[in-house]
Formats: sequence, structure tokens, C-alpha cells
Amino acid sequence: MIFKCRNCGGNVVYDPELGRMRCPYCDGADTQEREAGDGQPVCKNCGAPLEAGEFASAVKCAYCGQYMILDERIRDAYLPRFILPFRIGKKEASERLQGEFKNRIFAPDSFLSEATLSRMEGSYVPFWLYDMSADCHSEGTGTRVRVWRSGNTEYTETSWFHVLRDMEVQFEKVPADASEQFPDEIMDLMEPYEYGGLQDFAPEYLSGFLGERYSGTAETCAPRARERAEEDAKSLLRETVSAYTSFIPAREEIGLKMRDAGYALLPVWRYQYRYRDRDYDCYVNGQTGKMAGELPLSLPCVLLYGGTFFLCLLAVLMLVWLCISFL
Ligand SMILES: [Zn+2]
Ligand SMILES: [Zn+2]
Repeated sequence: MIFKCRNCGGNVVYDPELGRMRCPYCDGADTQEREAGDGQPVCKNCGAPLEAGEFASAVKCAYCGQYMILDERIRDAYLPRFILPFRIGKKEASERLQGEFKNRIFAPDSFLSEATLSRMEGSYVPFWLYDMSADCHSEGTGTRVRVWRSGNTEYTETSWFHVLRDMEVQFEKVPADASEQFPDEIMDLMEPYEYGGLQDFAPEYLSGFLGERYSGTAETCAPRARERAEEDAKSLLRETVSAYTSFIPAREEIGLKMRDAGYALLPVWRYQYRYRDRDYDCYVNGQTGKMAGELPLSLPCVLLYGGTFFLCLLAVLMLVWLCISFL
């Protein structure tokens, strides 16, 4: 399907800054009319064939730049339950990248040029959001140590406790990315999303963005979410015994029950940059603005950027150190 403007026939898209549909050609607000697709991967605007990989659900025509949604890929089993609409537009996402990287002396000049940044595309990434309950049980020995002095003698008193903990934890919307295109570790860096902003899915939100349907089912993606919930439950259990001087666990059991799995689309800006025959990707969380990615460096040194430049600094220092030590 495509959303066309009643006034001018242009492609109406979802505007993250305004939080509603806008025609970028005549500036009309909510002037869209839905034109259904006929199942053919052909542009409804210019007739050109669309390049749609196996998992694409919304694509951009390479010839006329219109955004098309592939009706049959957001239908039935592939109909998302939730969508987290973009809150950060392309302009703001570019500005954030520019602000973050402008002082990196090793980045090639063209990396932050307006022309290359304008190629950035917003994508909706498929996720499963799991609701789970965990029955947590922990048993072990806790000690409490008290030390005091009297005269020249130091006394130590150790008390031993048999500690029992039982609790039930409810997990809501534990995410697991079900995307073919976006690496798991990048999506982990994009978190956290604020799930309070989830909306019931409507195709209007997809207009103006690329979209992907899930490549893994709720069952196949569940282990990652279970692992995270289990880790969280364990650390919650450990917090409950933190008042003891020491705690030696004898038994720890987490019984996880899956209550629900919802298919959701989450927003990411992706900036692809080619430098010296290699592709570099930077990502901006489309809701919170958090950034992650690889920075192409004019030095032969590449590292993962995960929110701070500590690593970068460290790598450069090490490089300097290596150079010196080889002199
Ligand atoms: Zn218009
Ligand atoms: Zn076209």
C-alpha cells in the first residue's frame, strides 16, 4: 500500500516531530488516502520494480523515492501487535551524530557531510516482547560478623543463619530482536526503549520508513529473553541477601513461565557509510536518540562505539604506546 495525498498526490509520511501524517510536498496534515497494493513488488507511484528482500515489509522505490508498504507482509501471522513510533526525525538523528562525532579527528571528513547523512534511513525492526512470571527460590547460609575491642583484646562474633527466600517476579515486555538485518549486539546497544510509548499497530506509522517482518518466531527467539529474565531474577534474589556479610547459596531455582509474546516494531535510524571499501554502520534509537555503531577512522584502528569514547581513547593510547615501544 501507499499513502497518497488527497491534495497533491504526493507520498504522505509519518512525521516524528509532529506525531502525525504529513505530506512533504504540499505540507498538508492528515491528507492521506490509502491505496492498497496488489501483491506485486512494483512501485504504485512510478511502476518500477521494487527491490524487496525476503523479510522486507516496507521499502523505498530506488527510482522515485516513494515509500511502499507490502500489504501481505503485515498481514495475518505477520500483523504486528504493537509499534513504537519514531519520535526522533531524520534531522535530529543527523544532528545527534554530527554532535557526537564532530570532534573525532580520525573520522574522514565526508563522514559527517550533509549529503551523506541525508542517506540515513529509518527502519522498523521486528521484536518479540515477552511477558513472563518467575518463581524464585533461594536457600543457603548467611553470616553476620561483628567485631569489637575491649582493652587489648579484639573479639569477633560470627552468627550463622539458614536463609530461605521465595518470591514471584513478573516480567513485562522483555525484548528479543527477531530481525534478519540488524545484528543482535547492535540492538542490545540500542536499548532501553521506553515501552510506555507503544501504540497499537497501524500501517500509517510505517509510511516514510523501511520495515522488516520477523525472521524468527516467538518460540525460536524466546531463549534470549528467558536468559535475560533469569539473570534479572537471580540478581533480584541476591539483593535480598545483601544484608549478610557473606552468603553461600546451597540451592537456587528460577521457574520461568511464559505468559505472553507480542510482535512489535521498534524504531532505529541507520546510517551506512562506505570508507576504503568497507561499510560502517551507525545507529540512532528512533525513540530515545541513543547512539551506537562503528566509527570509520583514518587510522588503521576500528572499534565498537557503545556510548562513551573511553574505548576509543584507550585504543589510541595503546596504539601510541605500541609505536613508542617499537622505536
Ligand atoms: Zn500533498
Ligand atoms: Zn517509484
